Amino acid sequence: EAKKSGGNSWAFYQPDFANTTEHMFKLENALRQALQNHEFFIHFQPQFDLTHHELVGVEALIRWEHPELGMVSPAIFIPLAEEIGLVEDLDAWVLEEACAQLRLWDIAGFHVPRVSVNISAHELDKLDLVERIKQALVQFRLAPQRLQVEVTESVLMRAPERCISVLNLIRNQGVSVAIDDFGTGYSNLVYLRGLPLDCLKIDQSFVREIGASPAADTLIHAIIAMAKALDLNIVAEGIETQRELTFLAEAGCHYGQGFHMGRPMAPTDLKACYPSAIGAHKGTFANSFSDS
Ligand code: C2E
Ligand code: MG
Ligand code: MG
Ligand code: MG
Repeated sequence: EAKKSGGNSWAFYQPDFANTTEHMFKLENALRQALQNHEFFIHFQPQFDLTHHELVGVEALIRWEHPELGMVSPAIFIPLAEEIGLVEDLDAWVLEEACAQLRLWDIAGFHVPRVSVNISAHELDKLDLVERIKQALVQFRLAPQRLQVEVTESVLMRAPERCISVLNLIRNQGVSVAIDDFGTGYSNLVYLRGLPLDCLKIDQSFVREIGASPAADTLIHAIIAMAKALDLNIVAEGIETQRELTFLAEAGCHYGQGFHMGRPMAPTDLKACYPSAIGAHKGTFANSFSDS
């Protein structure tokens, strides 16, 4: 059963009739039923301090397992959910579940400093999100510093004014904001400076290019220098090798996540992988892979 191998090693549902009208119709109907049928769950990917190797947080990533279709990738159903107006409900569910999980870990004495949730574009022009965040923090007794929201760069390009006011309201509560997939959009320095941000996540396409050419390496250095000039925390996404990790740490990148340190995983697996975080203030990934 695919479920046992965990994280991204799953074979996601990829039918040969994908993208046909019939298929999309079927998928759409299935998606409309999925929340009430409890077909969603969350995997958490650990994020680490790249110099001290401490667990600094987790990213909540939604997963959908349909009884017949099997696992469907968020890269497929999130855009579909946006299209049919369901993504708000999904993001609301993830926010609440992720906060509930953090609270459960707290109670169990497992110290996960922060959870980061992905927020779709479609919500940033609504005040509901601000209210939902407030409620979740109160309900699960979490300090606002325990929560981060991630918005993609392309989102911020599309509706800046409205987004900025919502992001300001979120940050005023003490919740931090990260710009996700940085480098895939068209942000320039001046524009970025005007955004209410705490953190910049370097897209994994840049990480994948490390060592491929001097130009690629220079580009990463430039992004890091720029983020530092703007006083942003930096998280590198998609670190798959020790070489990428070493390069990023030496380049001054603060934080990172990727298959090399930990895949997105079920809450119980995360707890089992990072036992050093239990009863201590910080977990480390030193014991999670051999070549560190
Ligand atoms: P993202 O927010 O940029 O998340 C990172 C993606 O990279 C995740 O894919 C993660 O599993 C994958 N990843 C992490 N480390 C590595 C690595 O070392 N190598 C490779 N190749 N991949 C890695 P996933 O879980 O399939 O999610 C895809 C996208 O779907 C996310 O990109 C995010 O934009 C969206 N998404 C996921 N969950 C949610 C959600 O709850 N709400 C919304 N609105 N979007 C979500
Ligand atoms: Mg993200
Ligand atoms: Mg990303
Ligand atoms: Mg992405």
